[in-house]
Amino acid sequence: VTSAHVVVVGAGFAGLNAAKVLARGPVRVTVVDQSNHHTFQPLLYQVATAGLGADDIAHSVRGIYHDHPNVRFRLATVTGVDWAAGKVLVEDASPLAYDYLVLAPGATTAWYGVSGAAEHAFPLKSLPDAIALRNHVLAQFERADAEPGLIDDGALTFVIVGGGPTGVELAGAFVELFRMVLAKDFAHLAVDRARVVLVEAGDRLLAAFHARSQDRARRTLEARGVEVLLGTAIASIAPHEVRLSSGDTIATRTVVWAAGIRAHPLADTLGLPQAAGGRVVVDSDLGVPGHPEAFVVGDLAAAADSRGSLYPQLAPVAIQGARHAARQILRRIDGQPTTRFVYRNKGVMATIGRNAAVAELPGGLRIGGFPAWVAWLVLHLWFLIGFRNRLNVVVNWAWNYVTYDRGARLIIEPPGEGRGAR
Ligand SMILES: Cc1cc2nc3c(=O)[nH]c(=O)nc-3n(C[C@H](O)[C@H](O)[C@H](O)COP(=O)(O)OP(=O)(O)OC[C@H]3O[C@@H](n4cnc5c(N)ncnc54)[C@H](O)[C@@H]3O)c2cc1C
Repeated sequence: VTSAHVVVVGAGFAGLNAAKVLARGPVRVTVVDQSNHHTFQPLLYQVATAGLGADDIAHSVRGIYHDHPNVRFRLATVTGVDWAAGKVLVEDASPLAYDYLVLAPGATTAWYGVSGAAEHAFPLKSLPDAIALRNHVLAQFERADAEPGLIDDGALTFVIVGGGPTGVELAGAFVELFRMVLAKDFAHLAVDRARVVLVEAGDRLLAAFHARSQDRARRTLEARGVEVLLGTAIASIAPHEVRLSSGDTIATRTVVWAAGIRAHPLADTLGLPQAAGGRVVVDSDLGVPGHPEAFVVGDLAAAADSRGSLYPQLAPVAIQGARHAARQILRRIDGQPTTRFVYRNKGVMATIGRNAAVAELPGGLRIGGFPAWVAWLVLHLWFLIGFRNRLNVVVNWAWNYVTYDRGARLIIEPPGEGRGAR
């Protein structure tokens, strides 16, 4: 029996979930990813701030499909799709022929054309990004310890651009790392002079949340020592300073860009209509218009509800959409018509640091403080892949919580390389 071959591009939240559903069907599946592991992006900020190690939040893709002999993995970078030939083009290897295709390469950082941003700001999209940021931040403290005059030049000033969940979570984690851990490590350095500045162009933090949650997040961050600048855009970034829309400058060597994402550049090569942020326009069943054998899911897809509003680029949307697309492929093979994708809202949440978070659940229920923080911990553990990862994270979190310590504060960098070198 020759079963249909489905190629799944990307082993993120979307790709993994599509392959899991397909694995149970009468198909052969090839998952293609440019890295050999799945990364749990919502916890990247904890790797960047030494709360977790890199391997706590990543899982080998091959290991996920041990029990599914019809799923294969291919380590390769996809460069495009030859629609006419039904082939996925990959770098330095022959193309992969498919009968059905699931495209899920995710998103990339959007620099919005801000001068100096792509060159000097730190993105936070991948494990290498998180480790580069951790190296750099710890190195700033080492430099300032050796030469305290550098503090006046911004060595201990950390600017985060973007007041969405990532910016808020990172700001909260930075102040905790500095106050609770690095203050003890650097007993002879004026760690209390370290500044965390959160810059947001809009007039509120957490734009997607209710006004109460927004205020709670701002008040909590400010009480913990974060300087929150609302209604402020970044005009330009240079190696040792940022210029704000107001014309003011801040001396800093660390700008973290948490301001936005755009569709993966693969979207621009497909010859398909694109919506805001470069996302690929899909039919209501998540199929590619004119190519019913192909589906686009996750952050790459401009999937819309029945009123035409685009679904947000979030993990639950990616997971549900991918499962839906996989089921549509199985339906097609079965000769059944496809169905509309409807996202079931799971709510949104953001942690602000120790014992503090905001969570908004479906049905309008809002919680904050300690209960929201516990809900956040449980949910993230639940979605983390692999028993070993969950165990590691529980042990690390418990250790960090009880001891006010961070085990992963290591500078691991080939000498002279990366942005951390400056
Ligand atoms: C820092 C951060 C924090 C976040 N926090 C939250 C949160 O708290 N809650 C939430 O719901 N969402 C959160 N998100 C968003 C969430 O992570 C995304 O919506 C989700 O990962 C999208 O899934 P995806 O499968 O489309 O893409 P991804 O998970 O990004 O996966 C894409 C995969 O494709 C691979 N790939 C990319 N290009 C190629 C190529 N050319 N060839 C081969 N493989 C390729 C990548 O290596 C990757 O494995 C966060 C995102 C970030 C960056």
